[in-house]
Amino acid sequence: MNDTFCEFCQGKLPKKLALEDIFAWRPLNTPYICSDCFEAWLQIQDMDQSHRCKACHRILKSGGEADYCQDCLRWLDTYPSYYLRHHYLFAYTDMFRDWLFRYKYHGDIYLGQLLKGPLEHALKVYRSYSFIILPSSPTSLSQRNFHPVGHLLDLVKQPYCIPFDYQGDGRKQARKSRQERLKLSQPFVLNQSGIDFIKAHEKIIFFDDVYTTGTTLLSAKRAMIETPYFTDKHELISLSLVRE
Ligand SMILES: [Zn+2]
Ligand SMILES: [Zn+2]
Repeated sequence: MNDTFCEFCQGKLPKKLALEDIFAWRPLNTPYICSDCFEAWLQIQDMDQSHRCKACHRILKSGGEADYCQDCLRWLDTYPSYYLRHHYLFAYTDMFRDWLFRYKYHGDIYLGQLLKGPLEHALKVYRSYSFIILPSSPTSLSQRNFHPVGHLLDLVKQPYCIPFDYQGDGRKQARKSRQERLKLSQPFVLNQSGIDFIKAHEKIIFFDDVYTTGTTLLSAKRAMIETPYFTDKHELISLSLVRE
């Protein structure tokens, strides 16, 4: 039988095979991670701990007076604060960055399984919410053939809805007039499943992989909140694996 190696440090692991691996006639493709690498890879975030941005929970410089991070301060010029409510689950460690690159862009889909247990555990807090995710952009879907965020939720058996379609006509940006480009700053349009979803659920959570400046998620939240289907009874927050 072949030895198994840690996905990150290539260290050999003690043999630990499940019966299903032995009896299923398929290549062994379950990823393993050693405990040292696991600790360096995944650090769970405690949203109550440290001095954090009131909106997106990014850790702020200790001793600072600010209530919000720079990104959120900028957004507050344009958006009411309830647009900005965001949580994230794990620290963006170097190893997490590597893992995400391999999983999302390099097509190592099987690496998603490493996150299954931790994600299952972390999402317990958000059980009362109904999940939505962004659509894959048409180009990335044809390049990847899988939805990186949807696949993670599939692994933990968390149902979700993709309430938006991408709007865009496939023409190159440069050939569009300024007017047309501005219109496209809202890339999302609520689709029929989105409308049905808002009518059926009041506590909604937007799930994504990385929160960078918030631009994409805010556009998507806008595309939902600014429809007649979204009422005062609704609550919409967002959640990402990591915050850059
Ligand atoms: Zn290792
Ligand atoms: Zn913030």
